[in-house]
Amino acid sequence: MVKYLFVTGGVLSSVGKGILTSSIGKMLQARGIKVNVIKIDPYVNVDAGTMNPYMHGEVYVTDDGGETDLDLGWYERFLDLDLKKDNNLTTGLVYRAVIEKERRGDFLGRCVQIVPHITNEIKHRIRSVAKGSGADVVLTEVGGTVGDIEGLPFLEAIRQMRLEEGYDSTLYVHVALVPVLDVTQEMKTKPLQHSVNELRRIGIQPDTIVARSPEMIDAEARRKIALFGTIPEDAVFCSYNVGSIYQVPLILDDQGMGEFVCKRLGFSGRNRDFKGWREFVDAVLKPECDVRIALVGKYAGLTDAYVSMSEALRHGGAKCRAKVSIDYIEAEKLEQNPDCIGVLKGYDGVFVPYGFGPRGTEGKILAIKYARENDVPFLGICYGLQLAVIEFSRDVCGLKGANSTEIDPGSPYPVIDLMPEQRGIEIKGATMRLGAHKVVVEQGTIGHRLYGCDEIYERHRHRFEVNLDFGDVLRKNGLVFSAKSSDGRRMEMLELPDRFFFFASQFHGEFKSRPGRPDPEYYGFIKACLDKKAGKEKPEFS
Ligand code: GLN
Repeated sequence: MVKYLFVTGGVLSSVGKGILTSSIGKMLQARGIKVNVIKIDPYVNVDAGTMNPYMHGEVYVTDDGGETDLDLGWYERFLDLDLKKDNNLTTGLVYRAVIEKERRGDFLGRCVQIVPHITNEIKHRIRSVAKGSGADVVLTEVGGTVGDIEGLPFLEAIRQMRLEEGYDSTLYVHVALVPVLDVTQEMKTKPLQHSVNELRRIGIQPDTIVARSPEMIDAEARRKIALFGTIPEDAVFCSYNVGSIYQVPLILDDQGMGEFVCKRLGFSGRNRDFKGWREFVDAVLKPECDVRIALVGKYAGLTDAYVSMSEALRHGGAKCRAKVSIDYIEAEKLEQNPDCIGVLKGYDGVFVPYGFGPRGTEGKILAIKYARENDVPFLGICYGLQLAVIEFSRDVCGLKGANSTEIDPGSPYPVIDLMPEQRGIEIKGATMRLGAHKVVVEQGTIGHRLYGCDEIYERHRHRFEVNLDFGDVLRKNGLVFSAKSSDGRRMEMLELPDRFFFFASQFHGEFKSRPGRPDPEYYGFIKACLDKKAGKEKPEFS
């Protein structure tokens, strides 16, 4: 029978619940237990697709085209899972389903209420993910902070699950901040105590508490957390600051958390195997060289907006035993002060990420031009590919005013244009070209060398694409489209064979990048940066 583990958070958000949930999953996986993970986001949006990455961080895209919370990215990276859109549950999604049922007449005669109708829908969705996944343990992370009005129906639903599934099949983990005061260096557990009280007021007694603290908690803090949390001291764990996020499962397991959780859920006495994980962590912690990347983007002020991309760069770095330092450069600033392009001088590579809308695009185009002209290794993702096509059209093919119709609908050379099936779509939610699609890679290209096969499946999220009317002129001038969609209509990869490494993709390799198994385009880029720096004539990919 499947077991359920629930993670709630207190004191404030961004306390690392996503990493903690992923780490608990990793500790279970290391003991041969099959896991799956659900993220609950109590906001009223149906999905994350329409949310501004500058406020909420990136939108994570699943294979099946779900536009989800970025925590799903952490689950996939830590646990090497391919999750589905159903693994992300929002208030909007749940209410929409219940209201649709009500309109259909499913509840005829009854008054439809938060309890039981909304809570039943939540439990039903958690259970159906559990069933479909075939997992032994399903971890459910409740987003936000305990006590938020929006989170209440979800907490009520998970509270009921203890009654329905039984004590041995449910486990509540609560994580909260334990700050250390600057002046006295004292660890303060009072905010955590309040959040546990709030959780109990809702009817949930945590089985284990994780203190999120800058340093390992001292004996006094542990004693207080246990006493006021009404749990034994050995059920208190601490997630302290570490050099790499990927160490978190290891430090928690060393404290006995893996064993504790397994025992409580009836999986005790299993051997653990962290071998591959430790090797990866080692490569991250003990780099032998370093590489500096300039990420020129629109949301440079919030690194969470590019979290899968920066992680994919780090995965690539670990494979080369290189420390990857990323500087986030505001594209708009480059646009306003083109003379500042010299800031790119100190970097081993230029990276242009995804993006939407006109703001900052000329700055990104300047950065691409700089990379191309100075032969600095370049990687462009999605918008990065589209802007590289624009730059090449203008500066190499002489198509003055070339642009994307997303930026300039009246451009004389619309080298990037809406996909035909996107015309006429006015609804913004979930209407892009989303999810994994087949990509056919041409032999003899850098793309083929990197991916090592003729066909790959990579994830997408875009409305615009290369306008085929300009394919010939681009090709004639030396641009190679090294991969296409299976019908040949969509350009999926581009490269400039006369450059050391100038590569871009319409798809997002970062969503499939994993520790120890970087997506090839990210690995290729980092390796090229290192090889160029080492004075090699050509990049040498393994
Ligand atoms: N804005 C572009 C499009 O919609 C690129 C999207 C992206 O970078 N994900 O096609």
